[in-house]
Amino acid sequence: MLFARPLAELIAELEKLPGVGPKSAQRLAYHLLRVPEHEANSLASAIRNAKQRLRFCAQCQNISEAELCEICRDGRRDRSTIAIVAEPRDIAALERVHEYRGAYHVLHGLLNPMEGVGPEQLRVKELLTRLGDGEVHEVILATNPTIEGDATALYLAKLLKPIGIKVTRLAHGMPIGGELDYADSATLLSALEYRREM
Ligand SMILES: [Zn+2]
Repeated sequence: MLFARPLAELIAELEKLPGVGPKSAQRLAYHLLRVPEHEANSLASAIRNAKQRLRFCAQCQNISEAELCEICRDGRRDRSTIAIVAEPRDIAALERVHEYRGAYHVLHGLLNPMEGVGPEQLRVKELLTRLGDGEVHEVILATNPTIEGDATALYLAKLLKPIGIKVTRLAHGMPIGGELDYADSATLLSALEYRREM
């Protein structure tokens, strides 16, 4: 056996993380063995706390510690506009722009038939429930300008327009195939300002 069993188990767990290959998993494992015990323990407990204390916001499906996330609890936000994003980290990207004052809805993925991701796998049902009360006037489809992002936007536009809601899409000031997460604030701001109706 190449590694003592606990080390082999640690490497195996680290290798499951996105972007971590066998080599980096080994490097991280040896690093964790070298750090003081309290440091390793605080990493372990941060992971445990995050898993135990976080859930999805009952309204927008963002990651939250309470039943409703901070954005949904904020009375100053404009609830008549909802930006639909693929992942919680996209909310952080749009919040960095500081211009958007509406609400959000997180789909937790994008349509991808090849990978078996259909509308049932996304938080579409929750979105429709939310739109049912008639308070929302505009939905901004803020999915990435990728094949999956565009397909998801098109699907939602067809679904939502008959309900009588204004459906807009972020302008393609965004780099094609680019990700919200990586776009700078100025680009995102103009993508938001020049959004077009679908
Ligand atoms: Zn929320």
